[in-house]
Amino acid sequence: MARAFAKIAFTPRVQAAQARMGSRDAYRSTELGDAETVELSPVEIEFIGARDSFYQGTVGENGWPYVQHRGGPMGFLKVLGPRTIGYADFSGNRQYISVGNIDGDDRVSLFLMDYPAQRRLKIWGRARLIDEDTEPALVARLESPDYRARVERGVIITVEAFDWNCPKYITPRFTEREVRGLVTGWQREAEQRNTAAASAEEIGRGALKLVVAGIRQMTPRVRAYELRAPDWTELPPVTAGAHLAVPVRLPDGAVVTRQYSLATHPHRRDRYEIAVLHEQSGRGGSAAIHLSWQIGTRLAVDHPANQFPLHDDDRPAILIAGGIGITPIKAMGQVLKARGNTFELHYSGRSGAEMAYRDRLEVEFPGQLHLYFTRVPGGARIDLHAVMRAAPADALFYVCGPRRLIEAAESAAHELAISAGRVQYESFE
Ligand SMILES: Cc1cc2nc3c(=O)[nH]c(=O)nc-3n(C[C@H](O)[C@H](O)[C@H](O)COP(=O)(O)OP(=O)(O)OC[C@H]3O[C@@H](n4cnc5c(N)ncnc54)[C@H](O)[C@@H]3O)c2cc1C
Repeated sequence: MARAFAKIAFTPRVQAAQARMGSRDAYRSTELGDAETVELSPVEIEFIGARDSFYQGTVGENGWPYVQHRGGPMGFLKVLGPRTIGYADFSGNRQYISVGNIDGDDRVSLFLMDYPAQRRLKIWGRARLIDEDTEPALVARLESPDYRARVERGVIITVEAFDWNCPKYITPRFTEREVRGLVTGWQREAEQRNTAAASAEEIGRGALKLVVAGIRQMTPRVRAYELRAPDWTELPPVTAGAHLAVPVRLPDGAVVTRQYSLATHPHRRDRYEIAVLHEQSGRGGSAAIHLSWQIGTRLAVDHPANQFPLHDDDRPAILIAGGIGITPIKAMGQVLKARGNTFELHYSGRSGAEMAYRDRLEVEFPGQLHLYFTRVPGGARIDLHAVMRAAPADALFYVCGPRRLIEAAESAAHELAISAGRVQYESFE
């Protein structure tokens, strides 16, 4: 991808400017290397699908560039294939500058912005115009179900290169819809927190006292809670795979227990971290944590237990996580890495943005991590059969996630005659 982009953008004059300004050496490497196939990966596909606007540059036959802002419902720029994108052109102000320009020169440059996340994707491609008379089926694929504006034509773009930009100078900006969502959520939480704060006594009856010392929103539905001893002294030692039985006060005052795996590196004694997925359709345990826990919330819990222990010799391991099942698997990966064991970590989730600890794992386990996105166009599920078949003969398997993932792993292990003792499972349900 980088090479294709450099080939288009680093013209001789651009190269000369880089040389003058001292950045030529840093960029030269992007032009080298083998020929490459330009294909949008699940990361680009997800990003494109979440946009509700982009900027498009075209060139007139007099050589003047023209930049147009295109807006529409979220996802109106569609991914039609590994290197094909397209959008419906709705009736506008009838100047037809971009249309005329594309008629004469099919080269376009697209800027896709995600201001809140400070991300920017640049795409270079060749555009062609289609209409309902000539290609009705393709025009139909460009329509957005809830958007009734009249489609005048379609623009189909063959991607020739793309490149991600550094976020440094992108000021975070939010649309009205995003701001409304945030403010409503905050208001609701503030009201509920005030109620909870009014009865902020210690929750639970265990011997181990903990206090919530940090809260981090990791994904739209997952929050991480850092738990420390009230006097910040060392916590009891734990092993990878351990979990805490956490007392949770429901809005009606009843205290229930929910288990949460410790995601922290087990070598850490200063804190435990749990990551809690907000279950919309549950009995309210995770929802109560999200709504009522705040910094300073005090808990009295039992000592951590471990029903999902990691082997302690040097055999290789295959770690498999689905969704929030990453929590014990992350800790296992960290221990295996520290011990020098060979291991792979296969992590599957709906989309990159919904996968807790994804960024961190990418940095920590660049050689071991395999990501799978199940709900983005072009994404894929883990092929458990293939992963387990390719594993070394003495490898041990650790699987944590939804029941479906565990059942699929059990059946793959059975078909491959992998003995039960080599596969450990933990189900959160
Ligand atoms: C060892 C262990 C470790 C865990 N670690 C984590 C972790 O790290 N992070 C995390 O987020 N969660 C973890 N969990 C799950 C956690 O304990 C809770 O179950 C979860 O937070 C949901 O609690 P809840 O009260 O919100 O929902 P629950 O009521 O417990 O609902 C959970 C799911 O069960 C379904 N369900 C509930 N009641 C019924 C019913 N009567 N019939 C059919 N389906 C029903 C719901 O639709 C929902 O999908 C772990 C569980 C275990 C056992």
